[in-house]
Amino acid sequence: MNPSNILQEVADQVAVCEACGLHFSRKKAVPGEGPVNSEIMFIGEGPGFYENEQGRPFVGQAGKLLDDLLAAIGLKRANVFITNVVKCRPPGNRDPLPEELSACTSYLDRQIEALNPRVIVTLGRYSMAKFLPNAKISEVHGQAAWVKGRLVVPMYHPAAALHQPSLKPALEKDFTRLPEYIKQANAAQPGARPAVKKEDPESEKTPEKPKDEPTQLSLF
Ligand code: URA
Ligand code: SF4
Repeated sequence: MNPSNILQEVADQVAVCEACGLHFSRKKAVPGEGPVNSEIMFIGEGPGFYENEQGRPFVGQAGKLLDDLLAAIGLKRANVFITNVVKCRPPGNRDPLPEELSACTSYLDRQIEALNPRVIVTLGRYSMAKFLPNAKISEVHGQAAWVKGRLVVPMYHPAAALHQPSLKPALEKDFTRLPEYIKQANAAQPGARPAVKKEDPESEKTPEKPKDEPTQLSLF
């Protein structure tokens, strides 16, 4: 199966998934969206009210802020892949429970494998915890770390910055570091092209893999 097919299969499966209790209150599942050859993937927490209505990630207030943060560094939402750690809305926007996170994690794993992004930006604590389980967001936000050969950049959740305006400058500053991280990740993984870009001769080269271990913080 090619990466587009895998992403479509994940979307089809989450639409009817009953693996955790979140399916009871689901209107529309929110699998995530974006181009299959995106070199950057944003991972939020879970759908909110509007996302549950529309089946699309980050379409409410936090999404508007995300759009602005992307625009400030010359990126458009249409050029990046955006998803969440849980694909169905937690009732009342409560935090996802451990059993919900673990029930949903294989969908995200398959999306990451299909997309093969150079850089993963985690938005908020729950997506950060998947990659950097012991990190504290107030200490590591904006600092890139290699995790299993990918550059992971933890950031505050846009909704947190809306509720707590003092976090917004940090979030904006962290976003301005992204272009440099993308460059660094590209330089470190010259052969790690997404599988869809088969016409690109670079994609046939053996990837020069960065070290999986140990996870390094403050790499740059
Ligand atoms: N907050 C999230 O974490 N994800 C969304 O999709 C929307 C808001
Ligand atoms: Fe399935 Fe994930 Fe939705 Fe739970 S949140 S029902 S695991 S798709």
